[in-house]
Amino acid sequence: MNRAIKYRIYPTEEQQVLFAKTFGCCRKVWNLMLDERETVYLTEGRSCRPTPAKYKKEYPYLKEVDSLALANEQLSLEQAYSLYFKVKGAGHPKYKSRKGSRASYTTNNQNGTVAVDAERGLIRLPKAGMVKAKLHRRPEKGWKLKSATVSMTKSGSYYCSVLFEFDREVKPVEHPEDNAIGLDYKSNGLYADSEGNVCGSPKYYRKTQQKLAKAQRKLRHKIRGSSNYRKACRKIAKVHEHIANQRKDFLHKKSAEIANQYDMACVESLDMKTIANKGFGNGKATLDNGYGMFLNLLEYKLADRGKVFVKIDKWYPSSQICSCCGTVHPDVKVLSVRKWTCPDCGAELDRDVNAAVNVKKEGIREYLSA
Ligand SMILES: [Zn+2]
Repeated sequence: MNRAIKYRIYPTEEQQVLFAKTFGCCRKVWNLMLDERETVYLTEGRSCRPTPAKYKKEYPYLKEVDSLALANEQLSLEQAYSLYFKVKGAGHPKYKSRKGSRASYTTNNQNGTVAVDAERGLIRLPKAGMVKAKLHRRPEKGWKLKSATVSMTKSGSYYCSVLFEFDREVKPVEHPEDNAIGLDYKSNGLYADSEGNVCGSPKYYRKTQQKLAKAQRKLRHKIRGSSNYRKACRKIAKVHEHIANQRKDFLHKKSAEIANQYDMACVESLDMKTIANKGFGNGKATLDNGYGMFLNLLEYKLADRGKVFVKIDKWYPSSQICSCCGTVHPDVKVLSVRKWTCPDCGAELDRDVNAAVNVKKEGIREYLSA
């Protein structure tokens, strides 16, 4: 099993300079390798696989940074090409620009070159040495450190995502269907569950949204390109990052709650919902509320505990079935119908909760028949 933990790090000025150099060198070798591959292909009609080492003579500054970071650029370029050749619709590898690309690099652990010092709150990285870190979570005994990815956000905060590998035997929970929950996606919140609970978005969202609006208003009065303008941009980036962090935190908490309390969670696959929502003009809400990320977190948290995650069939009409008597009512398909009464059995149904109950039933059925 693999697990990544992302730590906030606080590099010294000297280390920040080195990181900036490393980001730049990674971009440079990526572009050089891409250019060479393209040129050779166009002029000689053959493919080639250049390595970062061959550019070090012409660009000696490449020697100043972590060589494994450069080697990983080669690997990811290979991956980008194989994706491009194999998967229909995947884009051709692109050149990386200073502005458009992510400021990050990945390095590998070779016998302790990368290490987490939990006692002193430090992370060791090749060339950079010991970097101060906030170790909010410690790796467990027996976890093997594989690699680390250093990144800088737009507002200038640094993170180090450390990847660990470990063996763990998880005993599967018996009869998870006896303690199952169904979840239905909610475009103006997160989900409604089969127990009748509705999980909206947390209250502090509105507060940070106001902060964002204020920061954006301030930007309008600044002169483009001035140092005050740049400062205001950084401020906006900071609020955006804060919102993203709050959301991630919220999704972690909610998924952990469910994974602790239930042995099985049944959900609908999201792509169907996205399609369904497009026609109603609220596609933005779908992309915003992090449901996809929530499902990923929930899936691995359940797996960690030997529990079951079921994604039910795409075309199951969860919102049109009366969860009491099981008859299908296609006329309630429109999203505006929030509450309805079943003409067959007279049950009073809330759209979201009813759908969640159906998702649960269908999930259990699919699990038991698999
Ligand atoms: Zn009914």
